[in-house]
Amino acid sequence: MKLKNKTILITGASRGIGYQTAYEVAKEGANVIINYNNSIKQAKELEQLLKKEFDTKTLLVKADIKNEQEIIEMVNNSIKHFQKIDVLINNAAICKDTTFEDKTKENFMEILETNLVGTFLVSKHVSHHMLKEKSGKIINIASTNATYSYYPESLDYDASKAGIISLTHNLALHLSPYITVNAVSPGWTKTDMNKELSKEQIEKEEEKILLKRFAQPQEIAKVITFLSSDDANYINNQIINVDGGEKYE
Ligand code: NAP
Repeated sequence: MKLKNKTILITGASRGIGYQTAYEVAKEGANVIINYNNSIKQAKELEQLLKKEFDTKTLLVKADIKNEQEIIEMVNNSIKHFQKIDVLINNAAICKDTTFEDKTKENFMEILETNLVGTFLVSKHVSHHMLKEKSGKIINIASTNATYSYYPESLDYDASKAGIISLTHNLALHLSPYITVNAVSPGWTKTDMNKELSKEQIEKEEEKILLKRFAQPQEIAKVITFLSSDDANYINNQIINVDGGEKYE
């Protein structure tokens, strides 16, 4: 039980990697603050599952990370409920692929506001409390897209993830020596985010991965869980790729 007595806030825990991370950290004994935006049904099912399987203490919080007021309320409720947040996992993000010609300023801003500015704002309001405790861990979920461009259709998403890398290094500097800040950069992972990919696209991408397959969400979640634990206390300011050994062209 590596995470016993730790309280962990996971943004976007209702689906995909965030959902699986909630499961893995709860298995290790953590209390889990489950943030969701639209997927209330999945978030409630996750809460029931964690309570049933691990007797986890949970708090379910709806908050759109584009909205600073909702973030402030989420953080205040979390502190009121658990007194502290030991680990913040900035996982929530969106990706909306469109052709270069069809991309608008509004599309671009929505991606940046969610993935990058949202991550900054949640980090700002949570780290305020972590600094009072002189302790904490922040784990940002970046992407291999931050450094490798797969398709111009996701250029706004890629830019947001490149921003997460920069944000990770700057937060690590600013929050030193009390709070560690790291990022996990997953490669292709089997979640809803990739549900529009054709069979041909999947096969083409799998060919570039040394392990010849996409990751299961659990394989990313386990790395995030390790980084959340005291075993990772000396890991700081790092970007950790979990991509099956991808051969970037
Ligand atoms: P996903 O299955 O599409 O799930 C996205 C999650 O983010 C959902 O729980 C969603 O909540 C939440 N979310 C989106 N916008 C939000 C907002 N404004 N406020 C609060 N929550 C919001 O995605 P995923 O594949 O698990 O991705 C998780 C993380 O891994 C993301 O940061 C993504 O960029 C990164 N990543 C994924 C891959 C991949 O291949 N899948 C690869 C590299 C990196 P609701 O449904 O409740 O709205």
